[in-house]
Amino acid sequence: MTEKYYFECVNCKTKYQKDEVKYLCPKCDLENAKDKRLKGILKVIYNYDEIKENFKRREDIIKIWPINSLESLSPLKVGNTPIYKMNNIYFKFDALNPTFSFKDRASDLVVAYAKENNIDTIITASTGNAASSLAGICASQGIKSILFVPKTAPKAKLLQSGLYGGKIIPIDGTYDDAFELSIEASRKFGWYNRNTGYNPFTVEGKKSVAIELYFQFKEMNKEIPHNIFVATGDGVIISGLYKGLEDLLKLELIKEMPNIVMVQSEGSRNLVQNIGKDEFTLTPSTTIADSISVDIPRNFYMAEEFILKYQGDTILVNDREILDASLELGKDYGLFAEPAAVTAYAGMKKWKKIGVNDREILILLTGSGLKDIFSIEKEINMPKPIKNLDELN
Ligand SMILES: *Cc1c(COP(=O)(O)O)cnc(C)c1O
Repeated sequence: MTEKYYFECVNCKTKYQKDEVKYLCPKCDLENAKDKRLKGILKVIYNYDEIKENFKRREDIIKIWPINSLESLSPLKVGNTPIYKMNNIYFKFDALNPTFSFKDRASDLVVAYAKENNIDTIITASTGNAASSLAGICASQGIKSILFVPKTAPKAKLLQSGLYGGKIIPIDGTYDDAFELSIEASRKFGWYNRNTGYNPFTVEGKKSVAIELYFQFKEMNKEIPHNIFVATGDGVIISGLYKGLEDLLKLELIKEMPNIVMVQSEGSRNLVQNIGKDEFTLTPSTTIADSISVDIPRNFYMAEEFILKYQGDTILVNDREILDASLELGKDYGLFAEPAAVTAYAGMKKWKKIGVNDREILILLTGSGLKDIFSIEKEINMPKPIKNLDELN
């Protein structure tokens, strides 16, 4: 019997059997000292021809996942988040995941894999959401989590991680420093590493959004909307979406790739500004959208390949546009998303190509606004307390 899946290196295209490699392609990994954009990220490939006759329900995702049983997933029920339609825009509201961000999709699969393989400790580097997500999902599965986070991570995300019993290691440095150190730590102590991109199953976990979109729109007798906006930092969410859609193409369930629009903050633009370029130009990141504030996009090569192959679009928005979009999402739609998530909506507002009659639009809202209340604090006018009604004006 052939194995369920194999790996293929995004850079050199070498194929590996599933037990031959764990994180990066060993040939390309050697070059990493020069290029911090992880070279040799592994793409997971399945036997699509064998599966395609029998891919009919959401649960069939197990056929294109590196685990044996859906029962290994967290009892917390990750994904299957609602889609809301307002003003001809579809919102996929991933703030309603168990730990309130899209990151649960990756954590759920990585932890399930760990469980099936008798791994008891998982480490991750994170700007905040991956940490709280890993901590929460691990708590529900009886697995230990170790979290390398920049000391400046938003307080709610840190407290949330602590509450779930994760071991927080604050790093006196940036997210990028945390990333490097956590890889060193997993080598040194043998902990299984969930770092986004680095662990090939993070993309696989995140692709569940594409499979859901397919079935959710099918239930509405519709196809997946043509334009999908995705806020991007390391480029794993957007690659997960693309990978899921590509799997659907290979399974012959969809006929064309939707138009995916990668949205970054002007203050964290190292994917958008470097796609298709020979030389990597680094602009140091500073943005209120902390979840997408990364200097070196770790999944650069995979995201770049998808964007170029399927001719996706890219767009930048600034912090003011993100804040305005936050207020608008709240006031006009009753949706409270964190700045990084709102970035996708801000990008859609700015995207000139959408005409009144254009085909449908979907916005991925990737995290809850309650995770980072301080970024909007200055925007909300809090009235003075009163003692009696005479003071009302
Ligand atoms: C992580 C994250 C993103 C960006 O995902 P990448 O895979 O880093 O591109 C967007 N929004 C939220 C809320 C996140 O936590």
